[in-house]
Amino acid sequence: MRIIVAGGDGFCGWPTALYLSKRGHDVAIIDNMIRREMDNELHSNSLTPIASLDERTAKWEELTGKEIRTYNGDLNHYDFLRQVMKMEQPDAFVHFAEQRSAPYSMIDREHAVFTQTNNVAGNLNVLYGIKEIVPDCHLIKLGTMGEYGTPNIPIEEGYIEIEHKGRKDVLPYPKQPGSFYHLSKVHDSHNITFACKIWGIRATDLNQGVVYGLDTDETKMDPVLANRLDYDGVFGTALNRFIIQSAIGHDLTVYGKGGQTRGFLNIQDTVRCIEIAAENPADKGEFRVFNQFTEEFSVGELAEKVKKVALEEGLETDIAHLDNPRVELEEHFFKAENTKLRDLGLEPHLLDDAVIREILHTVMQHKDRVIKENVMPQVSWT
Ligand code: NAD
Repeated sequence: MRIIVAGGDGFCGWPTALYLSKRGHDVAIIDNMIRREMDNELHSNSLTPIASLDERTAKWEELTGKEIRTYNGDLNHYDFLRQVMKMEQPDAFVHFAEQRSAPYSMIDREHAVFTQTNNVAGNLNVLYGIKEIVPDCHLIKLGTMGEYGTPNIPIEEGYIEIEHKGRKDVLPYPKQPGSFYHLSKVHDSHNITFACKIWGIRATDLNQGVVYGLDTDETKMDPVLANRLDYDGVFGTALNRFIIQSAIGHDLTVYGKGGQTRGFLNIQDTVRCIEIAAENPADKGEFRVFNQFTEEFSVGELAEKVKKVALEEGLETDIAHLDNPRVELEEHFFKAENTKLRDLGLEPHLLDDAVIREILHTVMQHKDRVIKENVMPQVSWT
């Protein structure tokens, strides 16, 4: 298949582009490098040194003979996007290219407006590009489990059957997102639903859980192919952030009581889920939703797991319960469906001590790169 990976320089997008290329797909990347600029803005960095996108794709071609074409540009520049779609004629458009940090979206008005403009308008451009240039192309869009919030009933995969005043219907599952970033994803989902209905576009919304790990078989082939790894209070996500904190002897920063429960998955499963979605496209006019996570953990449970493995490696760490900078329930019911990707062949890499230990060993090699002032949360929701 001809596949565009938008956001292909990022944490999920880069290993996905490599994986799809390795599996024989013809891959092109679109990215405007804004994530690297955000590192400069926040005086932050990836824990792992990362090569430029040109160096990365050149190394890939040298090692495998496979070409990954790259387009440096913004989804919000529609002329650019149209040009790329015309040249590439993709069968699938994998859309990772959004501002993905909840804290970043909550810094101030400017960052909230940027997040929603970048994400919502960029996604709308992708929908128009597909309609205009490649109407049969399958949109594979990264959403988030955070779109659902934490309702007191089980979360279904996208839709729920409701009986109301004697009548029944299958309706979109209610969304209760917890940041302006998560709201941007909900707005995207609505726009895609509408575009599928009126134009007959085929789309899969992947409501992804929190991704942990950094390596795949492909990124491990050479240091130039290394994936980025975020640890700071703005872009670092739970588990990866805890592992890095344990490596530098920092307390593990659990926000509030730590009962916040979320869906998680290994980066190795992210890349496979995208392949599964691409190879099993949605029907024309179908807005299909998969919940893309493999296991549920509370933040407190993860901190305990990391503390135990770190101790076995000779690293003593404490768990600090910080005042929660977010507005969220700290103890709640959480149970979410996630069978659709498994039914299509996903075999999950589950989290155990060995997985944590392997990430920790990689982290230890680069721990001197940690900018310690960036580790604590700086952004408050209120
Ligand atoms: P990332 O920030 O590492 O990568 C996103 C990439 O998109 C970056 O390289 C950035 O430069 C690019 N980009 C952003 N806006 C763009 C635009 N307008 N035009 C072109 N390129 C643009 O993020 P990630 O962690 O790889 O996440 C990828 C996607 O997966 C995001 O949509 C995110 O919301 C979703 N997601 C991620 C996680 C996670 O744990 N990382 C969890 C759930 C969902």
